[in-house]
Amino acid sequence: MVIVMKLNASEEEITAINEELKRYGLEGHLIHGVNRIVIGAVGDREALLSQGLEMMPGVEKIVPIMRPYKLVSREAQEERTIVRIKAAAIGGSEVVVAAGPCAVESREQVELTAAQVKAAGAKLLRGGAYKPRTSPYSFQGMEEEGLKILADVGEKYGLVTVTEVVDLPSLDVAREYVDMVQIGARNMQNFRLLKAVGESGKPVLLKRGLSATIEEWLMAAEYVMAAGNAQIVLCERGIRTFEPTTRNTLDLSAVPIVKELSHLPVIVDPSHATGAARWVGAMSRAAVAAGADGLLIEVHPNPAKALSDGPQSLTPVAFARLTQEIRQVALAVGREFAGEGMLSR
Ligand code: PEP
Ligand code: MN
Repeated sequence: MVIVMKLNASEEEITAINEELKRYGLEGHLIHGVNRIVIGAVGDREALLSQGLEMMPGVEKIVPIMRPYKLVSREAQEERTIVRIKAAAIGGSEVVVAAGPCAVESREQVELTAAQVKAAGAKLLRGGAYKPRTSPYSFQGMEEEGLKILADVGEKYGLVTVTEVVDLPSLDVAREYVDMVQIGARNMQNFRLLKAVGESGKPVLLKRGLSATIEEWLMAAEYVMAAGNAQIVLCERGIRTFEPTTRNTLDLSAVPIVKELSHLPVIVDPSHATGAARWVGAMSRAAVAAGADGLLIEVHPNPAKALSDGPQSLTPVAFARLTQEIRQVALAVGREFAGEGMLSR
């Protein structure tokens, strides 16, 4: 259920509700909307109503939530969440692009990429330092050394940094270096990790699992939010189907569906969805047209030599060209894209 507070509800009234919930063994989760505060709580609404909770000062109404996910649902919060990290606001009017290599390989590689994606309008710099590779013999990532590089370069170019964490130790290290942590598809149901990311309070990019339903994905987000962290951006990155032409099948319908079901922002990763650089452009344009709040695109200065995901990585020049198209589509659907899409040479 959510307890919707009156517009002018005071701190004391909110505290009193939380105390009352505690008396019934429930924990209240405060959700700060633009206009009002709502308190989410999982428990028996009828029992609380019979105890007169709805009559308490400051309470407007108590609304039941039928879905299994509660805090992330639109029923709990009608207005959209905007995840703000430094100069980036994900979920607002602007289409926000995260770009960078699959894996951090060297300082030069990240510098070269960052300078160019920044000039083309990217707001976030991505780079993996702990790589969840299908084969144990593939490059596993530079770990802390890679995080240092990502943090330094992000700082230098004024880019928000995001990196994947794969377990509790990598979360402990990464949270000191980057602005946002990513939970990859393979860990979407690593519930211990979801809880820890929730407790860390660090903004999180939550990818959809390899073959997760939308409901399972939103339940994963619920884990993070129930642990106290509402700074969640969902990322559709394709799901496993019986179509082998693409690496995964991009489920673009997930974009409007998730926006209907949840207040959280949703971005699209056409790189891992298609697995091929030549299809990234079409899917990026389609994602923005479908209402995605942003994109996550792999960019490498020399895709042929990339240590991971080279075939799906765009060159910085191709990325710059694509951001010009993204801008046009964004404008056509009433969104903005801050980047000029121009390369500074
Ligand atoms: C990645 O972003 O490099 C990655 C491994 O993505 P996913 O978890 O979607 O496969
Ligand atoms: Mn990758």
